[in-house]
Amino acid sequence: MTDNAVNRKKHVLQWHILHRCNLRCTHCYQDDYVSELSADTLSGFLSQYIEFCDTHGFRGHINFTGGEPLLSDALFPLMDKCDKNRITYGLLTNGTLIDADIAGQLAAHKGIRFVQVSIDGTKETHDRVRGKGNFDKAFRGLHYLKDAGIQTMAAFTCHKGNYRELGKVIKAVRKNGIDRFWADRLIPMGSSKEDVLSTEEYREVIKLLTKEHSRRTLFSHTDVHLNRSLQFLEGGNCYYYCDAGISLLTLLADGTLLPCRRLPLALGSCLEKSMSEIYDNSDIIRQLKETTIPEECNSCPKAHLCMGGAKCLSYAMTGDYNRKDINCYYKY
Ligand code: SF4
Ligand code: SF4
Repeated sequence: MTDNAVNRKKHVLQWHILHRCNLRCTHCYQDDYVSELSADTLSGFLSQYIEFCDTHGFRGHINFTGGEPLLSDALFPLMDKCDKNRITYGLLTNGTLIDADIAGQLAAHKGIRFVQVSIDGTKETHDRVRGKGNFDKAFRGLHYLKDAGIQTMAAFTCHKGNYRELGKVIKAVRKNGIDRFWADRLIPMGSSKEDVLSTEEYREVIKLLTKEHSRRTLFSHTDVHLNRSLQFLEGGNCYYYCDAGISLLTLLADGTLLPCRRLPLALGSCLEKSMSEIYDNSDIIRQLKETTIPEECNSCPKAHLCMGGAKCLSYAMTGDYNRKDINCYYKY
């Protein structure tokens, strides 16, 4: 990457480097726990991404995930290669495998920007979803990361079964001194559409997030983010629009490239063609770039900032990503 890379537009690649995982969460999007390509193949994919960013004028950032990315022997060599090529990265993990040694190894990598651990609810709910003891292990891992000086993040996916626990989860996250917290909605990919929040339920979530967002005090430095679709609706000014396929791509463990993990439209395989070739010739990418504002949102004054909300949810619920977000309650 060249010296002026720092001034380029950021591009994010969510990269599932393997599907193997040490847990079997009940809500997991994955349908296989086996796929794992060789370290050389993964290194080749990273070379493709470096080339893609250079030729498309992007400043690359990778969110390594899985499966459980810390199970992969390829993870640290890939981070080393990112460091040599000025690609920054985060790690999305279940947190259970992090000890002082792993946290130290992560901290020794200059490109690491954060580690995110998912929390599914109270201890009881989290352990029911992820297995007994894993709530405590997740927070223990976050503490090792904090001690190593790494920025920590907790993520919460809201659905009908857990959204009422949001306040308790934020409290636990604050109590543990985690740096950042964000919450988003469940997208039903394989899970039942009945688990998706109703508009009234999502409104409750946004209201609570907005209140907690403004509650950063001397006693709690946790930054509660409002940076997901529609979360500006209760007065937040952090607008979000879906950038799937434009400045965001997902690479699965078998080499399949998607616009976003939650928008499962296969663009091609990086085993067969380079990322640039797939991206430059994809009709799906062309359509995503040309997609403007859904018709139902045409007269909305926030349309240029929101662009219709979450494409993945519209796609999962209606089969068409270019629709107004099913949870939008904005009155204008
Ligand atoms: S009407 Fe459409 S653009 Fe306006 S806030 Fe709702 S989803 Fe967003
Ligand atoms: S498809 Fe969904 S998760 Fe992906 S960027 Fe768009 S709104 Fe966000």
